[in-house]
Amino acid sequence: MPETAEQLYERAAGALRMPPVEEWETFPFDGEMRPRALLPPVEREKPRHGEDGVDCRRCAATDDEYLWTNERWRLTGLPEPTGLPVVVLLEPREHFDAPGDLPDELAADLGVMLARIERAVRSVGEIGRVHVCRWGDGSEHLHWWFMARPARIPQLIGSFAAIWDDVLPPLPEEVWHANLGAVKTALEE
Ligand SMILES: [Zn+2]
Repeated sequence: MPETAEQLYERAAGALRMPPVEEWETFPFDGEMRPRALLPPVEREKPRHGEDGVDCRRCAATDDEYLWTNERWRLTGLPEPTGLPVVVLLEPREHFDAPGDLPDELAADLGVMLARIERAVRSVGEIGRVHVCRWGDGSEHLHWWFMARPARIPQLIGSFAAIWDDVLPPLPEEVWHANLGAVKTALEE
């Protein structure tokens, strides 16, 4: 039997640990830290944006709002310059939620697209790694994050890169535009 949320809360709320973040080179913050108190489970999770495709902004968006599109997929940047050199999101044109909801043919094509976009983002230059991630807790319409971290700055490696994106100052506009432009060009080649 899987542990219920209530059982997990009961077991964990008074036993939270503080990992040795002061020893983690990639941890973005400094100073005295303690874990935030774990709040009890909720009856039901809040609906995400665009559940069941109702009022989904991604479904309603037109192709000109995207960096690059084809018949099945659309790729977008974020509305404002990011801290990391490139952050782009890949979405299926049609409304699907989890990767496991995709029909096999589209799921197979997704594999090809993850590789193509990762390669295109890496081609921008001065990129150490392109992290490819899917969370899906905010918005239901399936979206894959491609987060490029800069090369040769060891503190920015690993999963904290997603946090460093908000810690690093935004890219200068012209660098941001040039990087996204390079991704688009690579995808069109
Ligand atoms: Zn949608």
